[in-house]
Amino acid sequence: MITMHQKPDADAMGSALGLACYLRQLGHSVTVVSPTNWAPWLNWMPGADAVLNYDKEREKARAALSEAALLFCLDFNIFHRTKNFEQDLYQAQCIKVLIDHHREPDLPSFNFGISDTRKSSTCEMVYDFILAAGDASMLNREISACLYAGLIADTGSFRFDATTPAVHRMAAHLMEQGIRHTEIHSLLFDNFLENRLRFMGHVFLHRLEFFYEYNTALIAIPKYDILKYEIKTGDTEGLVNFPLSVQGIKLAALVIDREEERKWSFRSKDHFDCNTFARTYFNGGGHFNASGGGSKDSLQDTVDKFKAALKENEHLLQ
Ligand code: 5GP
Ligand code: MN
Repeated sequence: MITMHQKPDADAMGSALGLACYLRQLGHSVTVVSPTNWAPWLNWMPGADAVLNYDKEREKARAALSEAALLFCLDFNIFHRTKNFEQDLYQAQCIKVLIDHHREPDLPSFNFGISDTRKSSTCEMVYDFILAAGDASMLNREISACLYAGLIADTGSFRFDATTPAVHRMAAHLMEQGIRHTEIHSLLFDNFLENRLRFMGHVFLHRLEFFYEYNTALIAIPKYDILKYEIKTGDTEGLVNFPLSVQGIKLAALVIDREEERKWSFRSKDHFDCNTFARTYFNGGGHFNASGGGSKDSLQDTVDKFKAALKENEHLLQ
């Protein structure tokens, strides 16, 4: 079995499906389980049609887990990132393997694995895994397309700090397998509906606030906006990055009033540590320059808490 974090993004889904395709070539029987639903623009990935959604197909997922000899956990490093799937994963008796690039892994939960924050993406790690096994010849077009998608998603199309020479070499190698890189980019980034663009216009006009004394921008989105613009899973991905395009802004925060909780996303430039910030104030975590968290407070209360946190972090934001 292969699983990944809830609401899987292109790196989580791409690494899971790339690994699944490789393991199937080796003769293994593989079930991929997502803890929740995912954005429809990931459905083009080879094998996505067979992925189980734990929230909807709980019994099937449980049956497959009880038969599994090996469990691969991709693109997360602590079971609570799998939401309702968490307890089943804790209790599963199989061998648990971690492949991840987030900070502060919960190592006692896994039997084997690697958590390497220097890696651009979990897709890069699955690629390393296949090559280290001596199976470069098994990299076909399907695997390559899945891994390329996660690679461009997690490197911001090759612009983030973790974009090493090895990342470019990997991209070249994947291109040699015959993937259509322009098409993959479009499938991920030019695959929305009009409502999402209108929603973004509304958000930038009415929901975006700058705190120049802290070099910070905040977007706070009330439930009403999500309903009015019919915003679905995946539509808000990438939104948090836009305020970083403003001169001097070092921290961008986005909070969305979701059903279960107020969901936070943080992105930073330079030396501001988003992982520590999310961990300290919003029960979250992630990477140095990109993290997330959650709060049970009301939207107003959690925004107030954020503003108080800015004051405490003023010296780190200069
Ligand atoms: P995003 O803002 O795109 O949802 O997440 C940014 C990064 O932070 C991702 O790598 C994601 O896995 C991580 N992340 C998001 N939310 C949480 C959270 O609630 N807890 C932890 N530990 N990590 C999170
Ligand atoms: Mn990732």
